[in-house]
Amino acid sequence: MSNRAPAGALFVISAPSGTGKTTVVDRLVERLPNLVRSRSYTSRPRRPGEVDGVDYNFVSRDRFEAMVRAGEFLEWADIFGNLYGTRRQDIEDLLADGHDVVLVIDVQGARQVRERLPGRAVEIFVLPPSYEVLASRLRGRNKDPEEAIARRLATASAEVGAVEEYDYVVVNDELDRCVGEIEAIIAAERARLARRRPQIDPILATFPR
Ligand code: 5GP
Repeated sequence: MSNRAPAGALFVISAPSGTGKTTVVDRLVERLPNLVRSRSYTSRPRRPGEVDGVDYNFVSRDRFEAMVRAGEFLEWADIFGNLYGTRRQDIEDLLADGHDVVLVIDVQGARQVRERLPGRAVEIFVLPPSYEVLASRLRGRNKDPEEAIARRLATASAEVGAVEEYDYVVVNDELDRCVGEIEAIIAAERARLARRRPQIDPILATFPR
């Protein structure tokens, strides 16, 4: 990483499918200047309305696998048969430019980030208010067949077991409150002494010794 600017903070947000994390993260990046969401690579086919280079970088499975072999990913995972990954260089560039970066990745990916960059990322798990609420949200979206919903619910049950591995947990029972809590976590991280160094050193220098 270069010394162009103080390196930004790195956040990981994980949540079971149907928890509303996309909406939560959209709000966060709208409200917090300097927070950027990392754009993942995926081999999953594009859904209607999704834009290549905006929602994801959509690539073929072959290309994704070549990137894995070339060691380009900070983390990657096979989720429901599709591959998803975060390109290391993309994140390094954003952080080196002083941006705070949020990775919205699953629990497998979060484990790899923890292993490869120990202590670097602040990890936040977003929980739905209950299993029943999650099930009804997934059914309410009405976009998946029952079989896919059952699979997502089984995955969610396994994923919530990983909550213990995270630094912070926020319940998405009410969108504004949930977003507010995550904003407070981000604000606290930004106020850490090490990050404030460039700001506080000149202040400290004004005091007579
Ligand atoms: P979807 O296909 O619905 O957009 O995303 C499915 C899951 O993939 C979500 O849980 C999302 O957080 C996860 N995901 C998206 N991008 C990445 C990534 O780069 N790495 C990992 N590990 N998971 C990702």
